Amino acid sequence: VAKTQKAKKPAPETPNVEFEAIRNRLAQQRQEILSMYQQDLRAGQESADDGTDDIVDRANNSYNRELMFSLSDGERQMLLQIEDALRRMNEGSYGRCSNCGRPIAILRLQAVPWARYCIDCQELAERGLLSEEAASG
Ligand SMILES: [Zn+2]
Repeated sequence: VAKTQKAKKPAPETPNVEFEAIRNRLAQQRQEILSMYQQDLRAGQESADDGTDDIVDRANNSYNRELMFSLSDGERQMLLQIEDALRRMNEGSYGRCSNCGRPIAILRLQAVPWARYCIDCQELAERGLLSEEAASG
């Protein structure tokens, strides 16, 4: 199987300022979801022993697990999508369709900041014609 990979990187058509604004919004939304959970957490837990990295590290692990149980499906889904979008921003793959690689319209990103697909591929995905596995490349 011969795969032809184009090494050419598509030039970003969207200025980074736009992404910065979206990133801020995502981070803020993420914070809102997390603080909802943290209120629950604080209610059930009195002692705050912020000390060593070790404790923080362990806390983070159980924290994440509890978080995922504590949130509703919708909140959890949104949080995962936000985390995913932020991760893709760090990787530099944000704003490009995970399926066809074309840039996603900035208006679409502003409306749906965690959009992974361009509008065409999103339609395919919603009809079940796009498999998540195929989007890894
Ligand atoms: Zn696409």
